[in-house]
Amino acid sequence: MNAGIMTEAKWEKNVRKVTPYVAGEQPKTEGVIKLNTNECPYPPAPGVSAVMKELDCEKLRLYPDMNAEKLVSALAQYYGVKPEQIFVGVGSDDVLAMSFMTFFNGDKPILFPDITYSFYDVWAEVFRIPWKVCPLDEEFRIKKEDYLKPNGGIIIPNPNAPTGVPENTEVLEEIVAANPDSVVIIDEAYVDFGCKSMLPLISKYDNLMVVQTFSKSRAMAGIRIGYAIANEKLIGYLKDVKFSFNSYTMNMPSIEAGTAAVRDDAYFKEIVGKIIKTREWTKQQLASLGFRFTDSKSNFLFVTHESVPAAEIFKALKEHNIYVRYWNKPRISNHLRITIGTDEQMSRLVKFLTNYLKERDND
Ligand SMILES: *Cc1c(COP(=O)(O)O)cnc(C)c1O
Repeated sequence: MNAGIMTEAKWEKNVRKVTPYVAGEQPKTEGVIKLNTNECPYPPAPGVSAVMKELDCEKLRLYPDMNAEKLVSALAQYYGVKPEQIFVGVGSDDVLAMSFMTFFNGDKPILFPDITYSFYDVWAEVFRIPWKVCPLDEEFRIKKEDYLKPNGGIIIPNPNAPTGVPENTEVLEEIVAANPDSVVIIDEAYVDFGCKSMLPLISKYDNLMVVQTFSKSRAMAGIRIGYAIANEKLIGYLKDVKFSFNSYTMNMPSIEAGTAAVRDDAYFKEIVGKIIKTREWTKQQLASLGFRFTDSKSNFLFVTHESVPAAEIFKALKEHNIYVRYWNKPRISNHLRITIGTDEQMSRLVKFLTNYLKERDND
């Protein structure tokens, strides 16, 4: 990437050259309303801050538990599965990257939607996995037939990102059932915000894996915890690859903090409920301002305006210290992805947009 065209050194021909994933901006300035990376606007569960305060630094001398048993058993208990059915990693990005390496090891292309999490093609490229995108329909829904063709694996987020569109679990089940020769990964990063999980089906299909994260609904993007749930055999293969790569991915404070978060279900349900309520309120407000959007079941909205280009709104918002996400990419270059913040943050967003659109009309 940063190699000058004129000065390619001889060793550079042996370099694995990739175009990295571009994450949303993390502004250093104060006073920004940050609605650009789908973080939770509320703090983690109170038990998490207690754990962090009481952290015994003397213990950092030792390597952490490489099986993260405490966290794994808390998750196993929560989801009603065996600990052997759970794999934890450093954010679901780590879990997904390991999964690509483990399960997508064939010659046929892996399949995923054309509009989706923009890390999938990056992992496919870095691991040299052939891949093919399947175009979503006009309503940003997947077309089932696309996934009934020969493939080396399938990954579909539900709800999808950045569209927020939930997929019918019966349709997803048909895809899993029709592909016994492939591992099908359902990326459920946003499933807690009102979408149906595929978890109940993991005992029925040995090729199905569900991946979730603490980054969005558990308000812990900074701690980096993600996990996969599937049958023991599939999880076993994933562990073999992980232990061939880096045994100690989960650090001790993360294991402790993650466990505390899982144990406080009441708090989890409370913040998720608040975000859903704010999301529905924001939908009403934006509709009255001439925005159209998918019926998002995530912690963000994917919006387009009836007359004002998304790029212009994005710029105006940013100048006003309100950060949202915009991609100048085919099919979505007139859309914005807006993370659901607190009621107050969303009111300020709506207020700004109301004035902005009014003034624009007067010009
Ligand atoms: C945020 C996100 C992830 C990864 O999040 P982590 O912070 O690495 O757990 C994975 N998939 C999708 C679709 C996401 O939006």
